Amino acid sequence: MNWLTNLIKAGSKIKERIRERATREQIKNSKWMSPCCGNTPILKSSIFNEEQLNTCPSCSKHFPFPPRDRMNHFFGKNNWEEIDTPKLHDDPLNWPNDVYKKKLAAARKATNQRCSVLVALGEREGMKITSFAINSAFIGGAISVESAEAILKACDVAIENQTPLIAWSEGGGQIMFESGLSLQGMARTVLGVNEVKKNNLPYINIYTNKCYGGISASFAGVSDIAFAEKSSMIGFAGQHIVKNQTREELPSSFQSSSELIRTGFCDGEFHRKEINDKIMTVLKILLKKNSAISAEENEITKDSQSLSKTA
Ligand SMILES: [Zn+2]
Repeated sequence: MNWLTNLIKAGSKIKERIRERATREQIKNSKWMSPCCGNTPILKSSIFNEEQLNTCPSCSKHFPFPPRDRMNHFFGKNNWEEIDTPKLHDDPLNWPNDVYKKKLAAARKATNQRCSVLVALGEREGMKITSFAINSAFIGGAISVESAEAILKACDVAIENQTPLIAWSEGGGQIMFESGLSLQGMARTVLGVNEVKKNNLPYINIYTNKCYGGISASFAGVSDIAFAEKSSMIGFAGQHIVKNQTREELPSSFQSSSELIRTGFCDGEFHRKEINDKIMTVLKILLKKNSAISAEENEITKDSQSLSKTA
């Protein structure tokens, strides 16, 4: 029975090795993280700080930026208020063993948010602005019925206060646990942002890494201006699904924000450190406020109109 003894010994060795591996909690609490570039572990504090804004100083990889940090950075601390969003029935499809309710409870505890969308009303450079951001730490940023209602609330606030609307979009799409109910959110949110546009209020969407599924296919995809944070991945179905369906090698730039600028899906990509100023420049031009590029300079002069007619 030598082979059996050897097998038991090998099994116990494997168990020991598994026990030796760091737990999820230990990884979360560690000061170090796996490198996004280079070969050595990097200090989390070199990326996750107020100067770097959760971006890598070496390769500029953009890590998720929690919505409250995002609003603090955009509006300035204490220069914005969080808007209450509608509270709906949790788990409308009554999943067995409370599997969805448990996920919701864990996400709420981890993020201190009701749903994946946070709505804010604030002021920057003397301009009142409504904004909402998706938190990918809340069940992957999935859009539930309640998240869609939060987006509609943001649209209402923008219209009531006659402010532009700025969306920070990331996540994988509509939440599976609410099936067709969450899919309705796609149509509802598009109708919501269309109401903002009907009121002649600018609607700017910023794709942040990564944005897929029902998010890019609904409210995020119908903005007046579409920006992206540097090196964001944007698409509908993920690369693996597309590759399996087409059975073709995909170009390395597939679904990257730089490629989407080339194809016209996206208007510009910027580093997180500079994107706020770019948004403000666009808003000032659209709303004809004081700007480095004045509205007059930006308009076509009579002379140039007549020249183009001649041409
Ligand atoms: Zn890096």
